[in-house]
Amino acid sequence: MSENCVFCRIIAGEMPSDFIYQDEEMVAFRDIHPVAPTHILLVPREHIESVPSLQPHHEGLAGRMILRAQALAEAEGIAAAGYRLVVNSGSDSGQAVAHIHMHLIGGRKLDNRIG
Ligand code: AMP
Ligand code: ZN
Repeated sequence: MSENCVFCRIIAGEMPSDFIYQDEEMVAFRDIHPVAPTHILLVPREHIESVPSLQPHHEGLAGRMILRAQALAEAEGIAAAGYRLVVNSGSDSGQAVAHIHMHLIGGRKLDNRIG
């Protein structure tokens, strides 16, 4: 738990948010500023700042986040049409919340450009 971290506060129940998925290691909730009809954030409960902060023991967690994103895409009805998974990391990426998270974005045709 990092006191100044908005995602830690959401996970701790100190800020309102509806989890659409949760287990012992991660939660998922809808982005407050969605960029597409489906915009879900998958967030590990552990405060890990960004990709360079990942340790070898996070390997399983990272894999399970991708698999969970696919399961949530199925539940949203967008898996067949396709979607985008984004993990911003560091200032050049525009990472705004320094608690690692994966965006699941879909439900419309997305821009071909990534960057
Ligand atoms: P990033 O730029 O990858 O760090 O993305 C951070 C995302 O968190 C942005 O898309 C924000 O809209 C989203 N966000 C920030 N605060 C909240 C919140 N309280 N609840 C839901 N999403 C949030
Ligand atoms: Zn945090």
